[in-house]
Amino acid sequence: MTPQRYDAAIIGGGIVGCAAAFYLARRGLKVVVLEKGEIAGEQSGRNWGFVRQQGRDPRELPLMIECNRMWRDLPGVLEADIEWRQGGLLYLARDEAQLAKYEAWLDHARNHRIDSRLLSGAEAAAMIPGLRGTWCGALYTPSDGHADPLKTTRAFAAAARRHGADVRTGCVVEAIETAGGGACGVRTEAGPIAAATVLVAAGAWTSRFLRPLLRPLGLDLPQLYVRATVLRTTAAPPALPFGVWSGDIGFRQRRDGTFNVAPGRSSDFYVVPDLVRYLRPFWPAYRRERGDARPYFSRETVDGLAHLVGGQPALVRQMKRHRVFAPPPNRTAAERALTAFKRLLPAFAGLEMREAWAGAIEVTPDEVPVLDAVPGVRNLVVATGFSGHGFGFGPIAGRVMAEMIADGQPSFDLHAFRFTRFAEAGHSHDHDAV
Ligand SMILES: Cc1cc2nc3c(=O)[nH]c(=O)nc-3n(C[C@H](O)[C@H](O)[C@H](O)COP(=O)(O)OP(=O)(O)OC[C@H]3O[C@@H](n4cnc5c(N)ncnc54)[C@H](O)[C@@H]3O)c2cc1C
Repeated sequence: MTPQRYDAAIIGGGIVGCAAAFYLARRGLKVVVLEKGEIAGEQSGRNWGFVRQQGRDPRELPLMIECNRMWRDLPGVLEADIEWRQGGLLYLARDEAQLAKYEAWLDHARNHRIDSRLLSGAEAAAMIPGLRGTWCGALYTPSDGHADPLKTTRAFAAAARRHGADVRTGCVVEAIETAGGGACGVRTEAGPIAAATVLVAAGAWTSRFLRPLLRPLGLDLPQLYVRATVLRTTAAPPALPFGVWSGDIGFRQRRDGTFNVAPGRSSDFYVVPDLVRYLRPFWPAYRRERGDARPYFSRETVDGLAHLVGGQPALVRQMKRHRVFAPPPNRTAAERALTAFKRLLPAFAGLEMREAWAGAIEVTPDEVPVLDAVPGVRNLVVATGFSGHGFGFGPIAGRVMAEMIADGQPSFDLHAFRFTRFAEAGHSHDHDAV
């Protein structure tokens, strides 16, 4: 049987893969999305739903400003209710040191004409009825917003389908096929698929998945992953149109009145063999996050060792076992976050935890993504490493990858997101965000 042939095969049905599929299919390209589990099963359906320019690393700002414009149009463009609300985003500052960090970041906002501004403690308190605690001030960006992650990602997939994209779920991609120094398709569990270009948007699996292809070329993609927990409360009358981050917790009120609440910075880093492999590039990140990151031993530790010994076949077995990688939530962190939420906002003391969940966030050493062609392999592009802020960024990431595939040239300068930067002498792994 002759394998089907596509202009682009996209590995990963998260927001990035689905957005790329939509922008490609809308231009008339023949696209297939290959998702091992469900659309938005992993990070893209498990996140807080913040869509923010505020606090971002300046490298991401030009794209995120454009993305903010795109979000405003998305409900119409996707013909879907994605619960988009441009309600703003507020970061509270408990002390002068935190406020000074916000003030320093404001320089980036001013340079890019983003409407972020500092509020006094009294102004911030006036915005959040009944707010407890002593606050020095806040950073506020009215043009930021939030949306429903699951609905948005599924809406991209549905819109891509309407434009002719083939979106397949329950389909593990086992390998990328190459010929003459270029990608020419993929091998899936259901058979081969020929494609002129392959986009890898495989979230937390990307580095591990690409390794057999990269190693002979002397390339590597340093990437680790952390568990992040979120809880959802019972419903309250509408009170807060904007998302809030207090340092301890982040929260937003959804349209149905429930709140998504999450431990602010704290995360559990998976103890896997890649921790040793990538110790050097991640050392600066570890020092930055030292107080907030805890080692997390889990089945992933064993699976990581199995992958180390068994190579790609072992990884493929893990992907088939984890059609949707759904880590158990950190119950202690969730309980603490709920307590902190009620302490902060006693008006909501009666709310209870309705559900809690977790997701595995992939991170790069400098906490900004890789959006690039893979050097040395023609027709292979990768979009990964969104480091906990790729939902808001997902539409533009998908769009620039689509431009890269369709035009050979994205509409933004993506030099800061180049694949090889971590291996470059003198590359700083600093992350300039708050
Ligand atoms: C708890 C939590 C809170 C977050 N909060 C926010 C927030 O408020 N705002 C924000 O902007 N971002 C947030 N993020 C980050 C954001 O969710 C991610 O950056 C974004 O969803 C990444 O999208 P993606 O498409 O790259 O990856 P994913 O959504 O992870 O999708 C990758 C997909 O690839 C599939 N896949 C992998 N390998 C294969 C294979 N070989 N074959 C087939 N399929 C494969 C996986 O099954 C997965 O579905 C948060 C993340 C989490 C977990």
